[in-house]
Amino acid sequence: MLEPNPHAPSVAESLSRVHVIGGRKTPPAEGRTFDVISPVTRRKLAEAAFGTAEDVGRAVASAGTAQKEWAKKSARERGKLVAECGRLLEKHDEELARLVCLETGKAVRTEGRPEAAALADIFNFFGGLGSEIKGQTVPFRPQQLTFTLREPVGVVGAIIPWNVPMMLLALKVCPALVAGNAVVVKAAEEAPFAVLRVAEICAQILPPGVFNLLAGHGPECGAPLARHPDVAKISFTGSVETGRIVNRIAAEKLIPATLELGGKSPMIVMADCDLDKAVEGAVTGMRFSRCGQSCSASSRIFVQAAIHDAFVEKLKARVDNMRMGDPFDQVTDIGTIVSEAQFEKVQNYIRLGEAEEGVTVLRCSALPADPRLAGGLYIQPVLFTGISRDSPLAREEIFGPVACIFKFETLEEALAAANDTRFGLAATLWTKDMKTALAGAHRLEAGFVQVNQNRVVQAGLSYGGYKDSGLGKEATLESMLAHYTREKTVMLNME
Ligand code: ADP
Repeated sequence: MLEPNPHAPSVAESLSRVHVIGGRKTPPAEGRTFDVISPVTRRKLAEAAFGTAEDVGRAVASAGTAQKEWAKKSARERGKLVAECGRLLEKHDEELARLVCLETGKAVRTEGRPEAAALADIFNFFGGLGSEIKGQTVPFRPQQLTFTLREPVGVVGAIIPWNVPMMLLALKVCPALVAGNAVVVKAAEEAPFAVLRVAEICAQILPPGVFNLLAGHGPECGAPLARHPDVAKISFTGSVETGRIVNRIAAEKLIPATLELGGKSPMIVMADCDLDKAVEGAVTGMRFSRCGQSCSASSRIFVQAAIHDAFVEKLKARVDNMRMGDPFDQVTDIGTIVSEAQFEKVQNYIRLGEAEEGVTVLRCSALPADPRLAGGLYIQPVLFTGISRDSPLAREEIFGPVACIFKFETLEEALAAANDTRFGLAATLWTKDMKTALAGAHRLEAGFVQVNQNRVVQAGLSYGGYKDSGLGKEATLESMLAHYTREKTVMLNME
């Protein structure tokens, strides 16, 4: 039997069959639960509360009451408390890292710990921004004092996915709270426990009700949250399809929505680049250590003809060196895919790609040999070359460890191909020529463009997509002001 950390399963158990409402563990109103399955053992990990409209009603009511008092605190004081949560979360970093890996199958060294660190960092970052919530004075007429105020919107509803649940939770909860709102979050069905634990930890510091966390399914819990008349803003991260549903609800209610959706991010590798760095960039960009389960994964890699073969060979060798295995083993680079449904979806894409004529399929790394892991949802990273640019593999978001590599001749051709997609979340360009770098950065149609590096989003860097990849930005002061406050103009006539 695997031993993730005797502590993590017991923490999950302690949060089974509850929401966190009003700062307390609260059983679901209808008493219903659902099983959360370990992607490593494929056995039940624990039962989670099955949230329904009644739970949503309770959580929103609790948030509504708490928000009125919360908004009376100075923004600086609210920020102080959010930063205090960050420090406390930091003390629980190993526990949280293990908990998120237990439910998602991600490897603790390469994924769990970095995510726990990012979680605390985002709390600390937004915690320091309290005094930046301010308006402007307007030189309108000398006898009149005209100024603007930034006020909270009220109760914010947030719906998050499972791939980096703690980090994505923080990107919504922190700006919402610092700006004076209360929040109700709906966790993803695959990964409710780490975020429930985050809410439980924060409840030691925050006033009850300002941060509520519901477990549950999308249509039965997420949709009622978006629809609730007292939810004044919705922030969503997930698939394009669900984003459209949520946005339709928001449009009907006339409330703002922030949507961070899918991607099919291009990586353009010019022949003059530092090849080793570009190969490393493809490994991190494709998020192979997370089985490619990232909305900004560099899943379309365009390589200039002169170095195409060398790039593919080096990338294959590099990914071959990544070790798949027990998520809790310190030597493991790659854990499992999150769920059976996701496993099937990715395998279907791979089969589709294999069936295409003229395609080369390179399977990298090796499935774990340990018989105790035989039932785990492991998928070897796959590189496809020679695939058609119109193939569903090249056009649709796979959310798995599948990269399509294309050959090109000119920058012009590469930019046209890179932009030929309905998505526009992230893009990278690899070159030593600064003219090419600047031209590419201007012309790539994506919200997050990097040259000669491929890092994950960080607090302080504006993140959000163009086109079908979403609406609105996250992770900055400006995004907090734009999405979690509303502006009031005040005119005092002195005549
Ligand atoms: P994924 O395919 O990555 O799971 P989804 O968009 O389905 O992406 O899920 C992201 C989040 O949206 C999850 O918390 C999920 O429960 C929620 N969700 C799914 N369907 C709906 C819906 N109809 N209304 C509101 N939320 C939903």
